[in-house]
Amino acid sequence: MTDIELSSSPYKEEENSSIGFTRIKNDLSERTINIKYTKYLNIPYFHFGETISFYYPNTEINEEFKNPPFSLGPGHNQFIIIVIIGLISYLILYSLIFFISTIYYKIIFPIFLFIVLIDSIILLIKNPGFIYKQIDCNQNSSFYCNKCGFYIERGIYTHCPCCNCCCANFDHHCGVVGSCISKKNMIYFNTLIFLVAFLNAFSIYQVFYFLWINSKK
Ligand SMILES: [Zn+2]
Ligand SMILES: [Zn+2]
Repeated sequence: MTDIELSSSPYKEEENSSIGFTRIKNDLSERTINIKYTKYLNIPYFHFGETISFYYPNTEINEEFKNPPFSLGPGHNQFIIIVIIGLISYLILYSLIFFISTIYYKIIFPIFLFIVLIDSIILLIKNPGFIYKQIDCNQNSSFYCNKCGFYIERGIYTHCPCCNCCCANFDHHCGVVGSCISKKNMIYFNTLIFLVAFLNAFSIYQVFYFLWINSKK
C-alpha cells in the first residue's frame, strides 16, 4: 500500500448564502447506480440521485467536510412525499374514528403522530455518517475508496453505492427513507417503524372495540 495522502475528493462545494449553510454536492459523473435506478423505475423525479450535505457556516471547511451535521439522502424527496401522504392518511383516519374512539385514543394518537413527525424530520436531515475528506487512519487497517478518492478505515466505513458516499457504521441503505441507515440514526429508524405499527394496531383496535360495543346493544 502506498503512502496515505490527503487526496482531493470528487465532491464539489458551493455556497448557499440564502440559508447560511454551505452545501457539498456529489459529482454525478462517477455514478452508476443512479442510471440503474432511473432505468428500473423510470421515475427520475423520485431519485434526484445526489447526496447533499450541509454544515454550519463560519467553520473550518477541512474539519466539517469530515463530518457534516446534516445531509439529505438521494431519495429525500421521495421520503418527504411518503411522510406527507402518511400524515394526511392518519389525520383522515383520526377524524373518522374520533367520535367512536375511547379517550385514550383521542389523547395518545395525536401525541404519537407528533413524535412520528419529529422522528421523520430527524431521519431526513441527520447525517448518518457521510464523510467527504480523509480522516486520520491507520495505514494497515485502511483501504482506498476509489469512488470517494481517499483512504478510509476498514471495518468502520462502507461505501454506499446508492448515496455514492462512504458512511460510518453502515447498516443498510433504506429505499423508503432514501438514505443510509447507520449506527447513528438506527434508533430513529426503529422508532419510526415501531410507532407506525403501534398507531395502525391501535386504530384497528378502536374500530373493533366500537363494533363490539354496538353489537351488545
Ligand atoms: Zn467511498
Ligand atoms: Zn446509502
